Amino acid sequence: MQNNTDTTLITPIAPIATATHGGRAKCLQRLVRLDLPVPRTVALSFQAVKRIAAGQMPDIDEVDRQFDPGALLCVRPSSEDPDWGGPGAVLNIGMNDQQYECLSDSLGARAAAALYSRFVQAYATHVARLDPDVFDSDSDEGPKGLQRMLRAYEEEADEPFPQSRPEQLKGVLRSMARAWEGTSARLLRQAKGAPADAGLGLVVQEMIPGLGQGECGSGVLQLANPVTGLPQITGRYLSQSQGREALGAGAEAIYLEKDPRGPSLEELAPEAFEALKRDAALMRERLREEMQVEFVIQNGNVHILDGVRVARSPRAAVRIAVRLAEDGIIPPQEAVMRVDAHSVSELLHRQVSPTAARDVLGRGIGASPGAATGRIVFNAAAAQASAARGEACILVRRETAPEDVRGMHAAAGVLTEKGGMTSHAAVIGRGLGLPCIVGASELTFNTRDKLLITPERRLLREGDVITIDGSSGEILAGEPEMLEAALDDAFQTLMGWADAERDIGIRANADTPADARTARNFDAQGIGLCRTEHMFFDQGRLTVMREMIFAETSSGRAEVLARLLPMQRDDFIQLFKIMEGRPVCIRLFDPPLHEFLPATRTGQRELAEALDLPVSDVTRRIEAMAEYNPMLGLRGVRLGVTVPEIYEMQARAIFEAALAMRESGEPVVPEIMIPLVSARREVELIKARIDAIAATVRAKHGEEFDYRLGVMVETPRAALRAAEISPYVSFLSFGTNDLTQMTYGLSRDDAGRFMSDYVRKGVFNEDPFHVLDVEGVGELLKLGADRGRGAHPGLTVSICGEHGGNPESIEFCREAGFDYVSCSPFRVPVARLAAAQLAIAAKTGLNAAKRP
Ligand code: PEP
Ligand code: MG
Repeated sequence: MQNNTDTTLITPIAPIATATHGGRAKCLQRLVRLDLPVPRTVALSFQAVKRIAAGQMPDIDEVDRQFDPGALLCVRPSSEDPDWGGPGAVLNIGMNDQQYECLSDSLGARAAAALYSRFVQAYATHVARLDPDVFDSDSDEGPKGLQRMLRAYEEEADEPFPQSRPEQLKGVLRSMARAWEGTSARLLRQAKGAPADAGLGLVVQEMIPGLGQGECGSGVLQLANPVTGLPQITGRYLSQSQGREALGAGAEAIYLEKDPRGPSLEELAPEAFEALKRDAALMRERLREEMQVEFVIQNGNVHILDGVRVARSPRAAVRIAVRLAEDGIIPPQEAVMRVDAHSVSELLHRQVSPTAARDVLGRGIGASPGAATGRIVFNAAAAQASAARGEACILVRRETAPEDVRGMHAAAGVLTEKGGMTSHAAVIGRGLGLPCIVGASELTFNTRDKLLITPERRLLREGDVITIDGSSGEILAGEPEMLEAALDDAFQTLMGWADAERDIGIRANADTPADARTARNFDAQGIGLCRTEHMFFDQGRLTVMREMIFAETSSGRAEVLARLLPMQRDDFIQLFKIMEGRPVCIRLFDPPLHEFLPATRTGQRELAEALDLPVSDVTRRIEAMAEYNPMLGLRGVRLGVTVPEIYEMQARAIFEAALAMRESGEPVVPEIMIPLVSARREVELIKARIDAIAATVRAKHGEEFDYRLGVMVETPRAALRAAEISPYVSFLSFGTNDLTQMTYGLSRDDAGRFMSDYVRKGVFNEDPFHVLDVEGVGELLKLGADRGRGAHPGLTVSICGEHGGNPESIEFCREAGFDYVSCSPFRVPVARLAAAQLAIAAKTGLNAAKRP
């Protein structure tokens, strides 16, 4: 039995491995090796179980002989990864008329009947596959109930209930083996990442009844709180119980440690409690993991049935990993690998408590994580008014535009009908750390009548309280219980360990001083993208911008822009100060100018008043500027070439800010980035102008300074022509939002409408605006980086689209040898951890944890 890999008694030296017998069998062997009081157990390999499913039963009499003839047995599943599940355990195999008589003497007829009834019920429905309704009666109905059930079995199955333990065991093993092969079980585990040929092992274990005279019962114990990860003995114990009954029980189940809320095992059976604590601590240390211990107490003696990894929230995962490393149980490198990088962003925001009831009104795309509760408002002005009253609000819009940004600042969260992962609301939301759901098109957004209508026709009005969960994309009614953000000492420690391993730079996309402060708090190594246009939406500046747009001549535009210059200079000084010498990459103006013009009649009337022009002039001008395809129109460097005054003003402001910093003793080397380039000549023209401005500023101030010029690669052509562009610049930064849009010919603002259909039908594996399309867009990135570096050795290469914060995309960039990635400030910790895990995996071969 011991040398037979297919059916082996679990001993310290038995040939058992997770890959052949599953995680439970391996764990039980480890417990046996620790000399813990584990009941006798036989493990069946994946191969053996596969054969059982195909009708070839191993020598079950031999298995049966491993156990005391009077013992009851149980069978539990043992899949390679516990998350893949498996059929439920079957307990009390071996119960028959004779056992019933014996147990009636020792436990009393009622308890014996309950045991037997439960087994008959399980066997009838799972093994004999009889109608569950017939056996649906209460197993506590006593001896009479048992007799009824045995009769029912005989009638339905046309044979008496099997009395032989090996025969019962065969039936149970066959039904569990076949359940694993069933289509729904297969689909379920594949959805959790199991391979198509994942195997199931089974363990046959002697039952410790948990029933009888003296202190008997069962329970579970763990040494850490599953929500916080802090040391705390949690679990339940139920006298006269089996399996995991204690967890499902109500008030009868007692606490483990002394507790003011009620009786405890510590008081009831202090020695057993101490023994359990010792065993649990030993398991934690030697299995190098926080374990939940499944135990039985029989006449005061502790038996350990099983150990499973403690289920844990993301914040508990961090603390548990850090404590294991601080206790010297695992090295810090391994602690870094134990936390799923995707889940870290949840720690940076408030969350809906996992135990809260969720009244789901509808769903959209969770575009910026965290949860927020507030009263519904339907426009930016109402959001600002609400903030002024000190009332939290959720800004509900069909989609957002730059003029909503002030409202977004004032809101606790944003919900839009349209859009995808890189639409305006999503990008700004992530930048602000503001929970955001976009593309919630299953709800009807009637913003004119201030109504939000759910698919079930529930009406929500302005002022109604909702909660948006920007992590799951769910819109919830009312205010469920929340968990606060957890940037605690454990998190900081883990991130410190991560940074020590990381080998690719992480910067943040930050437009405002608040963003920059967040970036610093999260230890970004610089700003990789400052989108300067957001600075112009400030109320005081918007009118000046509009005045500039309406100026007829170059000198007219320059004159108006001169008024914006000191404001821009101050913006940059603030960013430089906050970043304390770390690099700041400023992107020159990018959006089409008409985005700054009012879309409504009222807005146009107000503008006409401010500019002292007839409304008809304003309207005509706005109409004349309209483009069929603004995202492919007059924007980015094309504006720089045709309306050069804006870039000139910005370059001057950047240089003067850099000089001002020099005066305060903190030299900075600003980085200036040109957006939406597609041709070499564009770069040549802009570079010449910027160099000329630098020369003027140097001459005027009599001081030298350096700066770095770069190109943002956002069009496929810029990537293809990188070899002729790169000699003009110090760096190339891939703007993968636009590059994805243009490579696919897919509007980033409209893709949300059908993206879920596309992903569901397998057209795209993932939303390419969320996870970098390494095959298509990735090829352009590689090709652009190679051609750029080929023509300009030492060229800095980076990515600053929203993909920069995504672990899978970081993996691609690291392998392609990029110098850094830049992402929304709130994604910086995710990126730092993911990058560290990639470096550790490359060095050690360890795998990083993935959230199930
Ligand atoms: C991009 O296109 O990837 C980018 C970062 O720029 P924006 O999102 O501002 O267009
Ligand atoms: Mg872009």
